[in-house]
Amino acid sequence: MLKGSNSGHWVVLGGEIRRNAPIMKPNDACAMGGHGILVGDDQHGLPFLMQAAEDLENVRTGARVEVAGGFISKQDRRLVEERSRDCHPLLLATRQLIRHLLGAPGHVDALLGKATILCTGGAGRTYLFSTAPRGATGDGIAMAWRAGCRVSNMEMNQFHPTCLYNLEVKNFLITEAVRGEGGHLKLPPGVPGGGERFMPRFDDRAELAPRDIVARAIDHEIKRLGLDYVHLDISHKPPEFVKHHFPTIYARLLDLDIDITREPIPVVPAQHYTCGGVIIDLDGRTDLPGLYAAGEVTESGLHGANRLASNSLLECFVFGEAAAKDILECWDKLDDPPEILSWDESRVTDSDEEVVIKQNWTEIRRFMWNYVGIVRTTRRLERARRRIRMIREEIQQYYWDFVVTSDLVELRNIATVAELIIDCALLRKESRGLHYTLDHPTPDDEVWRRDTLIRRGEGPRRGPLIRP
Ligand SMILES: Cc1cc2nc3c(=O)[nH]c(=O)nc-3n(C[C@H](O)[C@H](O)[C@H](O)COP(=O)(O)OP(=O)(O)OC[C@H]3O[C@@H](n4cnc5c(N)ncnc54)[C@H](O)[C@@H]3O)c2cc1C
Repeated sequence: MLKGSNSGHWVVLGGEIRRNAPIMKPNDACAMGGHGILVGDDQHGLPFLMQAAEDLENVRTGARVEVAGGFISKQDRRLVEERSRDCHPLLLATRQLIRHLLGAPGHVDALLGKATILCTGGAGRTYLFSTAPRGATGDGIAMAWRAGCRVSNMEMNQFHPTCLYNLEVKNFLITEAVRGEGGHLKLPPGVPGGGERFMPRFDDRAELAPRDIVARAIDHEIKRLGLDYVHLDISHKPPEFVKHHFPTIYARLLDLDIDITREPIPVVPAQHYTCGGVIIDLDGRTDLPGLYAAGEVTESGLHGANRLASNSLLECFVFGEAAAKDILECWDKLDDPPEILSWDESRVTDSDEEVVIKQNWTEIRRFMWNYVGIVRTTRRLERARRRIRMIREEIQQYYWDFVVTSDLVELRNIATVAELIIDCALLRKESRGLHYTLDHPTPDDEVWRRDTLIRRGEGPRRGPLIRP
């Protein structure tokens, strides 16, 4: 979170940048006369941010800050550079940056702004297996819900079919291009049908079927045969073809002693994208005056019940910019934030039971994976709901008794978001897009061509009918 109301700055929450990816040096940003980008790196960015601190002073005392979240790959970097040429300074606030600006961890300060943009990303970490970064704990969704905003379609979670199965290396995604270029999904040796392709049994398009169908098929085979993973095999293609098309995957897996030109890759599906989130309008406004949101934290209407690959940057940039424009236009009309009480730490103590956090964190992610994952049933969802209610009560008590830590805050948020997912999933009595339940395996357009909506104190309900 960054900056306050008096100086007319915006408060920003979120921002992700990939390792070693500074786009410009801070001095370059200043040299451009206030048109530039300041970036930091979540894991290794501190020295860079220290260096940037002086320039941040300029941002704090004068310039307007335009903000967008975004996990920036090499290809996308070019886009950001192009976009930044004629806009205000773009600041991506990483956790490191926030820590640097706020000082000692564990201490809570209230920073208020006339306008706040939530860009805290999705809630992938609610699940045991996820491609999402460590910070994807649904903080923005949980905060907005607690503040009274409507949240929508939380049952719609996209699962990527092929994440590397490796106990050491988590979150390494094997691009769908491997299947696109002729890769085959096979059962591993040692089980009936071992070494054979299984996708043709599920869909005429076999490996080229859409993400949700492939993910469900893998999940089905893993559960049916009690497997840890299935195989993705591209080794029947010439080695030069494989190395040329997939240089990064080839090199990374070779480091792990897997030569993909000669052997298959062990893969599992993993949660990949949170399609639901905080409802925003076309200007990025949430239900609360002055509170905006952009990116994966939102339900912008862009994804519906299923998400096409690669359109999340669209969501980040289009709505990031829309929110920015709206704030600029409405700045004078936005109310000053009300005074709020400072954080009272006088009646809490340091926890002597950190184990509670670890235990609950693991438990939630495991039952979300098993009961609220790719294939659902009403009974499993009800089981999950009983558990999450109990755990949330425990966390609530813990939250008020002990000094807050990032782990505790994140645990509280994933628990909140998990309950929102379960409640929305229980309400939707059909299968559509990313929500698949064995109890209602087909879509029901008449009743269910609608969003699910949930607001604090109201429970989940059906939104208005969406016309074809
Ligand atoms: C492996 C992988 C590959 C992908 N490939 C593509 C692709 O090819 N094309 C595409 O369009 N999309 C892709 N996506 C999806 C895309 O990366 C994300 O949807 C997008 O990055 C979301 O951007 P965001 O700014 O909303 O959130 P994020 O990029 O997740 O950024 C959120 C930031 O907010 C911070 N944060 C969270 N909570 C707090 C808090 N309480 N206080 C302060 N900071 C906080 C986080 O630490 C993080 O820095 C991919 C995702 C993954 C995981």
